Amino acid sequence: MHLRLKVCLVVFISALFLNGGRSAWCQDFDRQRDEMVTKQIQARGIKDVRVIAAMRKVKRHLFMPAYLRPKAYGDHPLPIGEGQTISQPYIVALMTELLELKGNDKVLEIGTGSGYQAAVLAELTDEVYTIEILRPLAERAESLLQDLGYENIRVRYADGFLGWPEQAPFDAIIVTCAPENIPAPLIEQLAEGGRLVIPVGTNWQELKLVKKINGKIAVANIIPVRFVPMVRDKAGQ
Ligand code: SAH
Repeated sequence: MHLRLKVCLVVFISALFLNGGRSAWCQDFDRQRDEMVTKQIQARGIKDVRVIAAMRKVKRHLFMPAYLRPKAYGDHPLPIGEGQTISQPYIVALMTELLELKGNDKVLEIGTGSGYQAAVLAELTDEVYTIEILRPLAERAESLLQDLGYENIRVRYADGFLGWPEQAPFDAIIVTCAPENIPAPLIEQLAEGGRLVIPVGTNWQELKLVKKINGKIAVANIIPVRFVPMVRDKAGQ
């Protein structure tokens, strides 16, 4: 190999492994995350300053396999294994904003997946409960969230259609997989004044915001979305 090429290679590889290279790498993720928030989230009208701060803080790239990290801050969903996907950053921000979280709300998520959405929720409120029907994803998310120091998230391996009755009622419920109809147990487990954000439908779905006001249910359509389907009854509860 040509000597100059060899020297370049050694310098490049050292830069990757030495501290300087490492921090440059991290800084680039920080820059990409800032840009994601400005260009994809604020530019599209997300205004809640707490949601914006949470999206700026949570390191989305840590929630996906290493080979996909360079794409972590792109304007699209990404695969997270087991045929599942992590939502586009804007959709995570929009659904989170619709939940109108206050610091002491009790929140339930259906569809833990990578654990990213749960981490965003945990930045905004004290108590997060999240249910995943695929055991490998539930286990991986639980251990990652633990490693990242999130002590206010509980992960359960179960069928989220049924909600988490022992912990109900919830001030907010977010569903990140799509059932054909709104599951009755989730409506039941919504507190008075509670908000439920859920994609409903088969191939393409409508993102719906459901509110329980004086015991009555009000449903608003937000935007068309595309989520993986909610599947039933595979978990050994
Ligand atoms: N919120 C996730 C992305 C979710 S992808 C994140 O931030 O990464 C949708 C997830 O819903 C998948 O992991 C899928 O396995 C899960 N899922 C599908 N049906 C479910 C059900 N009935 N109960 C719980 N989880 C379910």
